[in-house]
Amino acid sequence: MLKSSWLHVKELSKSYGKVDALAPCSFSLEKGEILGLLGESGSGKTTLLRLLGGFEMPRGGSMWLNGVVMNDKGVFVSPEKRNIGIVFQDYALFPHLTVAKNIAFGLKSPNTVEQLLQVVGLEGYQDRKPDEISGGQQQRVAIARALAASPDLLLLDEPFSNIDESMKFSFRRELHEILKKAGTTAIFVTHDTRDALDLGDKVMVIQDGHQVQLGQPEDIYQKPRSPYVAQLLGPINNLSPQSCVRAEHTMISAEGAPNAVVLRSIFQGSVYHVHVRTDEGKNWIASSSEDWLADTPATVSYAVENILTFSP
Ligand code: ADP
Ligand code: MG
Repeated sequence: MLKSSWLHVKELSKSYGKVDALAPCSFSLEKGEILGLLGESGSGKTTLLRLLGGFEMPRGGSMWLNGVVMNDKGVFVSPEKRNIGIVFQDYALFPHLTVAKNIAFGLKSPNTVEQLLQVVGLEGYQDRKPDEISGGQQQRVAIARALAASPDLLLLDEPFSNIDESMKFSFRRELHEILKKAGTTAIFVTHDTRDALDLGDKVMVIQDGHQVQLGQPEDIYQKPRSPYVAQLLGPINNLSPQSCVRAEHTMISAEGAPNAVVLRSIFQGSVYHVHVRTDEGKNWIASSSEDWLADTPATVSYAVENILTFSP
């Protein structure tokens, strides 16, 4: 049986003894699409990656890649028979081999080592050993080595965890360009919302082993399914258990009848986050272009169209 999507995952799940590491998880990707798996530490991201790679036997579910079944009832294709590339968190380069030899290891794509060096922007580094290049460059070698096998699917576990915060923005753009240039279907794991939104064509949010939302980056921001998903993109103010408004959509003013008192004002760069206590005794955060003094009476308000609602 052929599934129409390039990658088709249906109700894939995993338990370790009594621990349900991953509840049934379903999604599809088209060729060349990039999916970001976003979740806190221990939420099940690596478990899903390892299931896809064939390093773990699922409790149940099925997986199809490029028209071939990888997992189904009574079917389990071993990792070396799946055409899946993996870039581990620690890159796992061969320390005694040069950059060129690391990349040439397992080369079966029509690309040459020279072309792969160019794709990842490492021309001129082919004769260095891994300990003679930076962490970011090592990561690019690991990606080039994985791309050398022309994988049907590339899995990246926390690709930005060893990258300095100041370098992350350019790294995400670089990785995006590398993957799109190679037309590679990829899934990357991150606990950083910005990584997921910036690099992912789609984002899956995982919470406590459950797939809680799958959508385009805009959906995660504009149509979060739960307060948990909503707050991944910055502070929210709860209106009720089923609705909230983002701090950036909550205004604070000295005009009108005061309905809150300022607790403190925190500089965030482009705005101040003004923490207030409302007359109803709630702690809210409003955004302001100005600094506010503690104990100042103020009016907080929001536009009705900015209310986010959740179904129970
Ligand atoms: P993440 O990558 O999101 O940090 P993991 O997928 O590594 O999370 O882990 C998900 C859950 O499964 C955690 O509760 C973790 O303790 C548990 N787990 C992961 N691997 C094993 C294992 N080999 N044996 C038992 N429990 C495990
Ligand atoms: Mg992990």
